[in-house]
Amino acid sequence: MVDVARARRVMGIETEYGITALGQPVGEELHPMQLSNHVVKAYAALAASQPADWDYETETPLRDIRGFDVPRAQADPEQLTDNDLGMANVILTNGARLYVDHAHPEYSGPEVTSARDVVIFDKAGDAVMARAAERASQSLGRPVRLYKNNTDGKGASYGTHENYLLDRQTPFDRIVTQFSAFLVSRQVFTGAGRVGIGQSSKTAGYQLSQRADFFEAEVGLETTLNRPIINTRDEPHADAARHRRLHVITGDANLSEISTYLKVGTAALVLQVIEAGTLKSNVRLSGPVTAMRTVSHDTSCSALLELTDGRRLTAVDLQETYLENCRQLVEQRADTFTELALMEAKDLLARWQDCLDALRSDPMELADQLDWVAKLKLLESYRRRDGLGWESPKLAMIDLQYADVDPRRGLYSALVAKGRMQRLVSDAEIELARIAPPEDTRAYFRGRCMEKFGSAVVAASWDSVIFDVPGRQALQRIPLLDPLRGTREQVGEIIDASSTVLDLVSALGR
Ligand code: ATP
Ligand code: MG
Ligand code: MG
Repeated sequence: MVDVARARRVMGIETEYGITALGQPVGEELHPMQLSNHVVKAYAALAASQPADWDYETETPLRDIRGFDVPRAQADPEQLTDNDLGMANVILTNGARLYVDHAHPEYSGPEVTSARDVVIFDKAGDAVMARAAERASQSLGRPVRLYKNNTDGKGASYGTHENYLLDRQTPFDRIVTQFSAFLVSRQVFTGAGRVGIGQSSKTAGYQLSQRADFFEAEVGLETTLNRPIINTRDEPHADAARHRRLHVITGDANLSEISTYLKVGTAALVLQVIEAGTLKSNVRLSGPVTAMRTVSHDTSCSALLELTDGRRLTAVDLQETYLENCRQLVEQRADTFTELALMEAKDLLARWQDCLDALRSDPMELADQLDWVAKLKLLESYRRRDGLGWESPKLAMIDLQYADVDPRRGLYSALVAKGRMQRLVSDAEIELARIAPPEDTRAYFRGRCMEKFGSAVVAASWDSVIFDVPGRQALQRIPLLDPLRGTREQVGEIIDASSTVLDLVSALGR
């Protein structure tokens, strides 16, 4: 049996950002797909240090091929063919993937092994998008805005997916029966807040979550239609005999560092309990899809949800049950955690408890910690000042502006600047993570290869990097099937000591 606690949980978040360009002449608007393509290429050009007036549409040195497997922030323009001109898809020096998905620019953060690192690399994604928007605005001659949200308020939703490496031996139906109520009830702290009720905001009001109204099934393979609470996609990007990558599609895109930290940290602990098979309580909801909405539509966090055994619990009660089970696991199996993982687990348990206590007494106490509460407080101040009802378009505008990734305009950023949001990480850590990869996963190898030998990388995916080595006939593929191999400790010196990509592949025994 795989010792998951000691082996560390591999995780990563991907986010599709909302996009718009202002002042486009009527009838000549760029399709969101083209606009997103501009944005991704703009960032790649910036990362490759091209001058500001460089026309990346016609002179692109990027080698963009449809589908994944396609980095090349610094590739050779001579080799471009028409087939290569698909949607932009690049690998960054921090090990992340930046590409166009469903007509949105998407940042898929590198694999990390702690909740705190998820926060750092997720915020690094916001920083990437802020620069991408600025650069694309310059090139297009009109403002391009990117939003870290999950709905346009008019019926469309785009995702923020969490990914957790799981032990293949854990039966999937156990994940369904034990994890679904966790995802439903955690909205009380993971919600990013939304003005409008219903997929196309037909009913005026405020709700906790951006995503809740878009879930229509409990289990399924889809991610854009008939969305399920538990997604069955099974592409492990790792040894499929040992692992599954659980693809969680219910989450909101959080701006608040504490919301993200709790979102992934508590989910990872609960998954550990589920894998260990030690969950003691029945947590099966009678109607999880309805419950998803009930929780989201209830800013008092006191609505009762019915369980299959007839009990009626609030979302906070349910979270308390999960918390209790996680606390016991951490106490009983402390010796299986690494020192750092144990410190983080204890910190998470304490913050989780404090958060639930505050939600019980008065959710507004969490206005400096959670997105949905911070946003609600902001909106209520406008409502009081200007006597606005929830149907006011001004409130929908504030909702949108909260999520603008440009720190000069975003209202979340304004709260941070005024010291009104608690933080977990520093700007310096985020800026470093925008450039440099995490050190304890294969993302280290991927990112360092892009930084040092980017022009020789013909393709990269989560589980391999392929080089075109001068002087070698065949392409050289370096497999990275184990997410925990390719770390700084394992390959840092080899990469440092390699002056050429030939040195690198030779040192790796190719
Ligand atoms: P989409 O949902 O956009 O169609 P996807 O979920 O298959 O695509 P990507 O957008 O490529 O995939 O993002 C994959 C995410 O999963 C990244 O954030 C990455 O860090 C993470 N990841 C990659 N491999 C693993 C793994 N073995 N275990 C857990 N997370 C992983
Ligand atoms: Mg993705
Ligand atoms: Mg995904």
